[in-house]
Amino acid sequence: MKDFNEQNFKEQFKLNLERKYVKSFEDADRFEKYSALSETIMDLITKNWTETNKQNKDKRNAYYFSAEFLIGRSLGNNLLNLGILDEVKSILKDLDIDFDEIEDEEDDAALGNGGLGRLAACFMESGATEGLNLHGYGVRYSQGIFKQRFENGFQKEYGDAWTERGDFWSLRKESESQIVNFRNFSVKAVPYDVPIVGYENGVVNTLRLWQSEPIENGGFDFEDFNDFRYDKSLSEKNRAEDITRVLYPNDNIRAGKLLRLQQQYFFVSASIQELIQKYKKAHPEDTDFKNFDKYHVFQLNDTHPVIAIPEIIRILLDEENMSWDDAFGVASKVFAFTNHTVLQEALEKWNLDLIHEVSPRAVDIIKEIDRRLMETLKNEGYTIEEMEPYRIVRDDYVEMAFLATYLSTSINGVAEIHSQILKDQTLNQWYKLYPEKFNNKTNGVTPRRWLQYANPELTSYVDELLGNEEWKHDLTKLVELEKFKDDEEVLNKFNEIKHEKKVQLAKYIKKYEGIEIDPNSIFDIQIKRLHEYKRQLLNALNILHMYYELKENPDLDIYPRTFIFGAKAAPGYFRAKGIIKFINEISQMINNDPEVNKKLKVVFVQNYRVSYAEKLFPAADISEQISTAGKEASGTGNMKFMMNATVTLGTLDGANVEIFREAGLDNNYLFGLKEEEIREIESTYDPVKIYEENENVKRVVDALLKEEKISDNGTNHFLDIYNSLVDSKDNDRADVYYLLADFDSYVEAQAKVDADFRNRKEWAKKCLINMANSGMFSSDRTIRQYAEEIWHI
Ligand SMILES: *Cc1c(COP(=O)(O)O)cnc(C)c1O
Repeated sequence: MKDFNEQNFKEQFKLNLERKYVKSFEDADRFEKYSALSETIMDLITKNWTETNKQNKDKRNAYYFSAEFLIGRSLGNNLLNLGILDEVKSILKDLDIDFDEIEDEEDDAALGNGGLGRLAACFMESGATEGLNLHGYGVRYSQGIFKQRFENGFQKEYGDAWTERGDFWSLRKESESQIVNFRNFSVKAVPYDVPIVGYENGVVNTLRLWQSEPIENGGFDFEDFNDFRYDKSLSEKNRAEDITRVLYPNDNIRAGKLLRLQQQYFFVSASIQELIQKYKKAHPEDTDFKNFDKYHVFQLNDTHPVIAIPEIIRILLDEENMSWDDAFGVASKVFAFTNHTVLQEALEKWNLDLIHEVSPRAVDIIKEIDRRLMETLKNEGYTIEEMEPYRIVRDDYVEMAFLATYLSTSINGVAEIHSQILKDQTLNQWYKLYPEKFNNKTNGVTPRRWLQYANPELTSYVDELLGNEEWKHDLTKLVELEKFKDDEEVLNKFNEIKHEKKVQLAKYIKKYEGIEIDPNSIFDIQIKRLHEYKRQLLNALNILHMYYELKENPDLDIYPRTFIFGAKAAPGYFRAKGIIKFINEISQMINNDPEVNKKLKVVFVQNYRVSYAEKLFPAADISEQISTAGKEASGTGNMKFMMNATVTLGTLDGANVEIFREAGLDNNYLFGLKEEEIREIESTYDPVKIYEENENVKRVVDALLKEEKISDNGTNHFLDIYNSLVDSKDNDRADVYYLLADFDSYVEAQAKVDADFRNRKEWAKKCLINMANSGMFSSDRTIRQYAEEIWHI
């Protein structure tokens, strides 16, 4: 950062602390120091923030609409991007303050579930780093994703009041508040602006998060209060604040709840109103919004913000008195849509009555869009049957993905295989109508947070090897590392750094989970939301298999291994919670068995989140990416592992396909059925046959009901899991995610890992080659493609 003065910073830090807490520096506690430090950094940011805002005016701008932004912590990342991380660390050291302790005072801003929300956060950071005029719009939930603890092996959820002790990384912009009108009440949407600091480039973009509040008097009714009706006196306040009270904790599953739709409409309506007001002020002559599309493009992150489409039409029709054709014309030029899933249970379908509860006009408008589309198709000669697949409204439900696809100028998937499945299957009828709209944008992750910040040891070593820091501005330059792939000294150093990160993780796990793990064992890590399609259960079944093999033959030569899991299950997802309990039971059984616990350990870390992730990714020897082929749209965890020099054990799914291509199959571990193979066997698949004929499969599946050392404590969780694998009830097929079909292949791949890991040099070479080829998975590349190919900014 230009003109950063250490002495001034130190003075300002002390001054802020004294002003805020009226305490001398010596008397302040860690949190007070953290908050004063954060405010000092915010002050540093403001000048560039104002400047960036000014420059974006009168330009074409891109707006990223997302119900989720999984930000995590900001302190370290902002310091890194400002280019003063080392300087501030040394200032703190002078003051006898430990940076790691201060850092741990910050609560994660966990306003998202998993990959989709984290992608939005990576995109914001890369947008600023690339100097793009990109703005994020979302929801300021008072409660982020729940905090998870394990009690007797069961997941228990606790609230996440992340702003309770203050939110130091946003500015409340009262004067830019909007009124959002629901069918039978109205609220005030207050924007909180979060600065997004570009990497060492002076750019500060804005993420605007809307908070719902009562319009007048803080929602307080004095008459009710005077008449002792205390609850009622606050009912208005509560009703308004309920809208942004809590993030829905469902990943890849539609909610179908009124409050969820209200949240979606709330942030989208506030955003569109604001942008229309600003446009009218800047372009008073353009009364029919003929040029609106020249200045705006809205990227819809999944279907969550798709209610923006009828909302912009409503405003142009009802408030700007435009004709249907003109209003529809504007709407058909400003949206672009990203699909994130092909799972049917995740595709949003809203009931018309529910939409009516939120915005009656949205119902009229959506029906009219559907009616006119059918009319157009009919005029083009389509028969009734041919028109049917295009119905946006079907049986009183609105297919939000169809509405988005019809009106967007671009429809993209998030990895090559996923975009292909959208064209061939999920949205095939729309692809036939509009082939030119479909495109792929393979996801990426920011190398600042996930490599430079999370792994400073490896970062410095890469600086040293490459002799410059150009790779930090163009990650594809990491490919130059390949020239060291046979250099013994370099490979040894890669192993040393990995070991150091494993020691650090082991300490952290000891502190927070109370479990001792051996950094000399293989760290085999699966961290992601708990979902059947991600197949944590397959991982668990292989662990059980290894356990039984060891019990049968205690001298079996297996390389010591530590299996690490991290995952939250949606609170209402019974089977996912059963799988957590199952893995925790296996963990107890194995970790407490002296016959096996020298060779096997299993740890399920609690409350997996961004700040925990930063410690886990750099410490992995194996990245588990084992979803059923065709089900994981992209995955981004796979990319974070790869950047941190880790080999992947995975299926041909999502971005794994591209990871395997970039780093080579010799340097990774591929197993399992391919997507087209699954489609071929789909109608005849018989998991019970596998269960009956394969002794290894039978042994581990039977363990669910028969292993005496594990128990679901009478909850029937394990019976439910057992049934899901081998008991096809009625029309419901068993083993929907092909665990048993892939079991042998997975066990075999794990055996290969065991054998290969012993050759430490060859292993390090694989790690190095993976890191060297991770360049294309930088979200800088992804966001540039959005900017050039979709947004034209
Ligand atoms: C990257 C990330 C994810 C996404 O992980 P996948 O393996 O791609 O599902 C989820 N949660 C957190 C906290 C992450 O950092």
